[in-house]
Amino acid sequence: MRAKIVAGNWKMNKRLEEAEALVFGICQSLKDATIDDAYQLIICPPALYLNTVQDVISEEDRSQIFVGAQNCHEKDAGAFTGEIAAPMLTDLGISHVIIGHSERRSYYGETDELLKAKVENALRNDLSVIFCCGEQLSVREENGHFDLVEKQVRTALFHLSPEQLSNVIIAYEPVWAIGTGVVASPEQAEEMHAHIRQLLTTQFDATLAANTTILYGGSCKPANAEAIFSKPNVDGGLIGGASLKADAFVELYKILREVA
Ligand code: PEP
Repeated sequence: MRAKIVAGNWKMNKRLEEAEALVFGICQSLKDATIDDAYQLIICPPALYLNTVQDVISEEDRSQIFVGAQNCHEKDAGAFTGEIAAPMLTDLGISHVIIGHSERRSYYGETDELLKAKVENALRNDLSVIFCCGEQLSVREENGHFDLVEKQVRTALFHLSPEQLSNVIIAYEPVWAIGTGVVASPEQAEEMHAHIRQLLTTQFDATLAANTTILYGGSCKPANAEAIFSKPNVDGGLIGGASLKADAFVELYKILREVA
């Protein structure tokens, strides 16, 4: 069955010592949680801290805590000043990469076509992809959210082989809920997750769809997580703000384990 996951996107936050303290705090808070392979934590720090974060995680904790990057380039190498290539992440032992976060889409003009190339490249370099999709408020107000998410998922993922798709985690992140304190209702999350899973069933097959992890992202925190994580098609969360505090982040993981 599909993995249940809480992934933390630190974005461009934390100084070096704070980053070390945060990952150390996460590992400490996890000490009383028994390891269960069905549940995972993924930490996505700024790229400069990837190694530092890895170093703090003990061999034992590595079976449940994974380290991911927040972005990578669509090409393996070249004259792309300031960019990070997927093979560089693989060399560091990084397991996951977030592709298509709404901040990348809106601030850096990343299109569905570009994201398709990034997804392909990341998978070819043995990275698991956390692929983000989600609509802006104006789109939802016009009732276009199902179509828009379908277009995002279709363009970036539908050309993949079943084997490739099995290394993709989808994160539904309504843009109006990211960093706003406004959280989607459990029903809104569930209906979109069910929609995405149905799209995967139609394009691939029911087994692959059932085995795909679909995370919710957008102002998720311990106070609202239980209701969202209990929904049958919600397999955990991609967490921004609440991933910057060890206790809150681990609490989300514990809630997931209790309800899922
Ligand atoms: C995000 O940026 O992916 C996110 C979900 O942020 P927040 O939890 O802060 O809304």
